[in-house]
Amino acid sequence: MTLSFNPPLQMPSLFYFPQNQKPSAIALPGTKCIIQPQVSLAHLTSFRVGGEAQWYVAPQNINDVEASFEWLQKQDLPLTLMGAGSNLLVSDRGVSGLVVCTRHLSYSNFDPESGTVTAGAGEPLPKLAWKAAKHGWKGLEWSVGIPGTVGGAVVMNAGAHISSTQDVLVSVKVIAPDGTIETLSAKDLNYSYRSSSLQKDNRLVIEATFQLQPGFTKEEVRAITSQNLQSRKQSQPYDKPSCGSVFRNPNSYKAGWLIEQLGLKGYMIGGAQVAQRHANFILNYNHAKASDIFNLINHVQEQVEKHWAICLHPEVKLLGEF
Ligand SMILES: Cc1cc2nc3c(=O)[nH]c(=O)nc-3n(C[C@H](O)[C@H](O)[C@H](O)COP(=O)(O)OP(=O)(O)OC[C@H]3O[C@@H](n4cnc5c(N)ncnc54)[C@H](O)[C@@H]3O)c2cc1C
Repeated sequence: MTLSFNPPLQMPSLFYFPQNQKPSAIALPGTKCIIQPQVSLAHLTSFRVGGEAQWYVAPQNINDVEASFEWLQKQDLPLTLMGAGSNLLVSDRGVSGLVVCTRHLSYSNFDPESGTVTAGAGEPLPKLAWKAAKHGWKGLEWSVGIPGTVGGAVVMNAGAHISSTQDVLVSVKVIAPDGTIETLSAKDLNYSYRSSSLQKDNRLVIEATFQLQPGFTKEEVRAITSQNLQSRKQSQPYDKPSCGSVFRNPNSYKAGWLIEQLGLKGYMIGGAQVAQRHANFILNYNHAKASDIFNLINHVQEQVEKHWAICLHPEVKLLGEF
């Protein structure tokens, strides 16, 4: 049986303008970069929910980033950074200010001398993992099932199969909203489980360098990479929109196990459902609103707190007002 709860009425978008009063797009001087008004973020996140960015830009290179930040400083608006949007829950009301998405900053350079690879913030992690496998370089096989970008992985300390970003990261190039560019070492990021110091500020990761282990055959590395992907597909639901694991695992427990013991698998609020296959996944099961997912996160937290006296902390990042 699927239990469910009817959600309350939705809040209106923050940026509703009659069609003829919608602000115009802004072309940034000296670049091909265009800042767009009122861009829907739903199709840019893996949950496939949420409202519009007040302003949105997807820079093609560092000059575009600099020009976008310069524009932002003059407007005095808030800044939001995103990669592939695979760990974001965007409010139905949208996000104020400028959303900068790194999806076009996608490249990678393998250096056989040092065994390092330097990748742009927007390079998809699975793509990088397969490229490394093709070179016969070990070190990224664990990351193949994580549908985020290099920048998102660096910030989130993304991990799987007992490995994580901090194990391979050498250094990262970041740019602050005032235009200052710095290279930070992995040590500077104070890494811990799914956490880094970059989560507390709004510096944009431009690119990252990883230390890998060359010298294997591509067949060998491909086989491990492929095996990791298969094992994830068997244990996790990839067929409906989600953000992966919603909650961090609390000390000595698996969040999914705590939730499953309460019989919450399949529980629904509106169109959002606790996944049957993995209780730490919440799915956009049937045209969910962001508020459905938000309410379901709260419900699961309350139940776990009530029955286990454990406070589950979300891994997913909430954007906008809920
Ligand atoms: C099906 C599925 C499975 C998943 N499995 C895993 C897993 O096994 N392990 C795991 O760790 N995660 C997993 N995730 C979650 C997610 O993929 C990771 O957290 C990933 O690292 C997020 O990367 P992203 O590019 O999508 O970042 P986003 O979701 O776009 O952003 C996440 C955070 O990073 C910040 N950010 C993103 N890019 C930058 C940048 N360039 N500079 C500064 N800040 C930035 C954003 O502001 C935000 O705070 C899964 C998600 C899904 C949908």
